Amino acid sequence: MSAVDPADVARRLEVVQARIDSVAGGREVGLVAVTKGFGADAVRAALGLGLAVVGENYAQELLAKAADLDAHPVPGAVPRWHFLGRLQRNKVRHLAAVVDVWESVDRAELVAEIARRAPGAAVLVQANLSGEAQKGGAPLDEVPVLVAQGRELGLDVRGLMGVGPAGAPEAARPGFRALVALADELGLPERSIGMSADLEVALEEGATTVRVGTDLFGPRPPRPSTGGGG
Ligand SMILES: *Cc1c(COP(=O)(O)O)cnc(C)c1O
Repeated sequence: MSAVDPADVARRLEVVQARIDSVAGGREVGLVAVTKGFGADAVRAALGLGLAVVGENYAQELLAKAADLDAHPVPGAVPRWHFLGRLQRNKVRHLAAVVDVWESVDRAELVAEIARRAPGAAVLVQANLSGEAQKGGAPLDEVPVLVAQGRELGLDVRGLMGVGPAGAPEAARPGFRALVALADELGLPERSIGMSADLEVALEEGATTVRVGTDLFGPRPPRPSTGGGG
């Protein structure tokens, strides 16, 4: 794992916060510090800067960092883990004790498994905004059924999550707009949209939370091709 320099992260955070403020004004915006690809030192850097909400994409990686933080906590700071990645059903059981918000819930079997293993858990339903299957997410027209299922099973369905397409930030606008409109319709307050490249567009369209990795921690080290998946 490559080392993270807390002073670098502090400087980058100032830039990210200024970008957020320039669009959101005084409105309060959630910021998920996405530490995938980095070690527990990235989580500690985030916590040291007052960023308690940490996003992870891979089950093993999240569990390893959570164990590390348990063993060597940052005084006065407890990470709140958001799961953001493609989620295999059989991983839910392992993650249930650790994950605070499941942001990438995109199919019925996951809704059911989370309700079973983590009753009442906070979830976002992920909508697919780019048409790229590997990014996950349910087609927009399947989202209402998943939201209803989650509510019925007692989950705390807080909102919707989406990932914009690669390319120009402006290309993300129509998808973000559609997601926010659907969240409005369904009475869901949380809209987790916008990442390093497109957070301004997301905030213009009504993001309540943005998820930032690269622009806080620098370019991610390449993922090893074997092991540590899921
Ligand atoms: C990796 C990732 C992010 C952060 O992406 P950056 O472009 O590095 O800011 C946000 N959300 C999800 C779902 C991700 O997988």
